[in-house]
Amino acid sequence: MAARTLRIGLIPGDGIGREVIPAGRRILEALPASLGLKFSFIDLDAGFETFKKTGVALPDKTVDTLKKECDGALFGAVSSPTTPTKGYSSPIVALRKRLDLYANVRPVKSVAPTPAFPDPIDLVIVRENTEDLYVKEEKTYDTPNGKVAEAIKRISEHASSRIATMAGEIALRRHRVRNATDGVSGKQATVTITHKSNVLSQTDGLFRQTARTALEQARFRDAGLVIDEQIVDSMVYKLFRQPADYDVIVAPNLYGDILSDGAAALVGSLGLVPSANVGDGFAIGEPCHGSAPDIQGQGIANPIATLRSVALMLEFLEQEEAAAKIYQAVDENLSEGKYLTPDMGGKAKTEEVMEDVLKRM
Ligand code: ATP
Ligand code: MG
Repeated sequence: MAARTLRIGLIPGDGIGREVIPAGRRILEALPASLGLKFSFIDLDAGFETFKKTGVALPDKTVDTLKKECDGALFGAVSSPTTPTKGYSSPIVALRKRLDLYANVRPVKSVAPTPAFPDPIDLVIVRENTEDLYVKEEKTYDTPNGKVAEAIKRISEHASSRIATMAGEIALRRHRVRNATDGVSGKQATVTITHKSNVLSQTDGLFRQTARTALEQARFRDAGLVIDEQIVDSMVYKLFRQPADYDVIVAPNLYGDILSDGAAALVGSLGLVPSANVGDGFAIGEPCHGSAPDIQGQGIANPIATLRSVALMLEFLEQEEAAAKIYQAVDENLSEGKYLTPDMGGKAKTEEVMEDVLKRM
C-alpha cells in the first residue's frame, strides 16, 4: 500500500508556541511507518511578532496556503498586546472565521485519581464557535438614567444542528475507541446538551430543540447514543462535583467558553489541555494555553497539550490509530511521572519530556 501523505501547516505564533509546535512536528515524524502515513510540513506566519514586523497578524498567504495546500494544521499561541494596539486583532479568531471552523473541541482527561476526584475524568466539551453573544453586535445609548449597553445573542438552527451533529459523532468515535482499547468500557456514548432555556426560551430554546432533533437522527439512535441535557448553572455544579459522570458536552459559544476553561482547571496544568478548531474537512490542533511569556525561552514549556492537540487533529483527519498511539505514549509518560515539567511539579525540560515520549512511540 502506498503511504498516504498528509500536509500539515505549522503556525507556531508567539512565545512558547515556538517551543511546543516543533515538538508537535517531531511526534508526527515519530509515528511508526507501519501506519502507512507520511507528513509534509509547511511553516506559516501569524501572531503578534508577525504583526510587529508586517502590520498584519494573519497574512493572507497563511490563510490561502491552509485552504489550498494543507490537510490540517497546528497552531501554537499568540501574545495579546498589553495595551490596545491599533489594527491588531487575534489571528486565531480570524482564522476560525475565514476557514469556517465552527467547533472548538476540548477534551479534558485526568492524569491520576485524586482524593477530590477518585474516578477518572475523561470528557469532551464541544463549543459552538460562530454565533451566540460572540457575533459582537453591541451598541450603547444614552437614557435619562445614564448609558445603556446591549449585545445581540444570535442562535441559528443551522449552527446548532451542525454542532450537535459533530458532538454526536465525537461521542460515537470515543465509544468505539474506548471499546477497542479496554474492551469492557461500561460507559455509554452520551451527549449532554447545555442551555438556559428556562430563562432564554427563544434563543437557548432553539439551541436545545435543534440539538435534540439532530441527535435523534437514526444513525445516532441505532448506535445507542444517549441524549442528556443540563441547565448551564446546574451543569457547572455537577461538572465540579462529579466530572466522571460526563462524556460529551455540547454548548452554545459563551457557555462553552466558560465550561471549557473551568473543566481544564479540574485536571491541573494548562500545559496538559489540548483543543481543536474543527470545520467540515479541516482541523487545527491548538494547545489551550497562551504564549506564557513568563517562561518563554527557558526550555521548560510543557509540550503535552500540544502533543494531545496533534492527536486530536489526527482524529478529525480520520487517523484514529495514529492518534491512539500518541495518546498512549503521553499517558505512559504522565503515569510514570519521571519526566515532568515544572508546571506539573517536576524538574524536566521540554526536551527531556519529548525524549521520554518519543521513546515510547
Ligand atoms: P497569553 O496572553 O498569551 O495568554 P498569559 O500570560 O495569559 O499569556 P498563559 O499562556 O495563558 O499566559 O499561561 C498562564 C500560566 O500558565 C502562566 O504562568 C504560564 O507560565 C503557565 N503555562 C501555560 N502554558 C504552559 C505550558 N505549556 N507549560 C508550562 N506552563 C504553562
Ligand atoms: Mg492566557
